Amino acid sequence: MKRNNILYVLVFFTLMCSTIFATPIKHEIALEYGLYNSEQIIDIELAIEEKITDAELAIEESIPQYITNELVNSKSEFEVFASYDLYQRKQTLLGIIDELEIEVEQQIIEIEQNVIEEGLQATDEPELSSEEKAVVPPPAEPTGKYAYLTFDDGPSDNTILILDCLKDYDIKATFFVLHVPGREDVYRRIVNEGHTIALHSSTHEYSEIYQTVDTYLADIKNLENVIVENTGVTPVILRFPGGSNNTVSHQYGGSDIMPNIIEATNAAGYIYFDWNVDSQDASKITQEKDIIVDAVLSQSANKTQPVILMHDSKFKTTTPEALPEIIEGLTQLGFSFEKITAETPVVQFSLKKE
Ligand SMILES: [Zn+2]
Repeated sequence: MKRNNILYVLVFFTLMCSTIFATPIKHEIALEYGLYNSEQIIDIELAIEEKITDAELAIEESIPQYITNELVNSKSEFEVFASYDLYQRKQTLLGIIDELEIEVEQQIIEIEQNVIEEGLQATDEPELSSEEKAVVPPPAEPTGKYAYLTFDDGPSDNTILILDCLKDYDIKATFFVLHVPGREDVYRRIVNEGHTIALHSSTHEYSEIYQTVDTYLADIKNLENVIVENTGVTPVILRFPGGSNNTVSHQYGGSDIMPNIIEATNAAGYIYFDWNVDSQDASKITQEKDIIVDAVLSQSANKTQPVILMHDSKFKTTTPEALPEIIEGLTQLGFSFEKITAETPVVQFSLKKE
């Protein structure tokens, strides 16, 4: 029994010793091979990996930064180049613009001079060609169709309305006037606004003027003097009261009175005009406006030179009212408007004796 106990003690002791001395041996071996222990190795390995990662990251980061830096440098270089290039181009373009501006200014001056010259020609032309040019609204193409608006028996307030209307449309017309003391200003306005002032009669009294050739001539001469005094214009166009073929005169001067008067007035240098369109505004004291318009347009439609009889005495209030529609209607029919002058082809009734 005692031997067995001693054996157990020895075995135990041996195991204890081996355990105690095993650790220093292992430590020495680790030191000798520089390995220390597994935890330290792992730490070192981790540290190395970390450094590699950092290095890689640094490289990765530095590459784009390098590229960015290069780009920034390149860009600023390019910008410098571009801005310089643009500056040069701008300078070149400014030079071209300056030249163009000078050229354009010269062209504008040329155009203005042409316009002024054309304007002067256009202004001169009517005077040089004895007031032949119509200064009227459309038609754009000259048709050779001229309408002559004529007004008898003024001046009155209606003459003023008619003059206003003609001014609005820039149309010239012809006024066969009476001697109306106190309305001499209207004679002046007729002349100043470019219309023709023409002779009709001082008194318009058939029983007086148509007695003899001389009574007629005296009446006309009196009116002519009034017009000359007030306007400075000597009228040469005339229209006989009742027209050149009137028969009312026969009861005062006989059946030859009109041919004799016509012969005398022709010899005196007057040019008489009758009409070929009757507006019918004398058929009643005050005619309906629409009848006047229709009469003028329907009678003018087939004519190339309508000479339109209208009246501007004080009861003819519908005549100025009808005038805009007459002007616009005739314009649509292709007419331009003219005033009667010494050069206008005459419109005269055929001379007939009864
Ligand atoms: Zn009359």
